[in-house]
Amino acid sequence: MLVSAKDMLTKAKKGHYAVGQFNINNLEWTRAILETSEELKSPVILGVSEGAGKYMCGFKTVTAMVTEMVNYLNITVPVALHLDHGTYEGTKACIEAGFSSVMFDGSHYPIDENIAKTKEFVEITKAKGISLEAEVGSIGGEEDGVIGAGECADPNECKMIADLGVTMLAAGIGNIHGKYPANWKGLSFETLDAIQKLTGDMPLVLHGGTGIPDDMIKKAISLGVSKINVNTECQLAFAAATRKYIEEGKDLEGKGYDPRKLLKPGFEAIKATVKEKMELFGSVGKA
Ligand SMILES: [Zn+2]
Repeated sequence: MLVSAKDMLTKAKKGHYAVGQFNINNLEWTRAILETSEELKSPVILGVSEGAGKYMCGFKTVTAMVTEMVNYLNITVPVALHLDHGTYEGTKACIEAGFSSVMFDGSHYPIDENIAKTKEFVEITKAKGISLEAEVGSIGGEEDGVIGAGECADPNECKMIADLGVTMLAAGIGNIHGKYPANWKGLSFETLDAIQKLTGDMPLVLHGGTGIPDDMIKKAISLGVSKINVNTECQLAFAAATRKYIEEGKDLEGKGYDPRKLLKPGFEAIKATVKEKMELFGSVGKA
């Protein structure tokens, strides 16, 4: 069964650790993340962008695949199926399709409009018992064609959105999606600290977890970050392992071309990446 992310994040915030959101792209990705979560007894959030949802033939297909995979693999740890950076229409579609958690990203709207639309989703998600993530201050880099500048959110605006009754809040603190540039200035802990002081118990979300140094991740968790999104790092690990397999000519040996063999090193690389992140975030054994 898929669960809301509310309980796991409330526990994480109290226990000073973070739950990872790992984005999925296909069957192998989903299985690698679920198996690792179960092995490490860690709660987990499976993230689905709207683009990945289309790629996997729609949100209903994703819900069916994840639900049945959880049953088939006898997964006992809490699993939330979460829409990542939802548009207004996409968020409605995912709620309809049976996701147990959604992010409505209204950060590109003027704050009044972000508040009005987020409020609408607070009502809908509360009635359905699913969790809702909102965003203030756009996060840098590119996600599904949306490019943000990596600004820092206004802590007062964060409080306004938190007070609407959302489950968790993503706020820009200098973080970026994708690879970080060499001249990146680092996370703004001053902004994070100010946001946490105003939003209290609200679990905060750190997007763009790939390439942030470990000590900065730990400091962010100590300042109230309870959910960290990882996407690019699994993609890089999968690509590198697959490249190695082919460059070593393994696809030409015996039945090395069999997709179940060809995709195995990438699958194992995703598992190793997820394990490393869960250990860093402190969620191992917290299920
Ligand atoms: Zn993001």
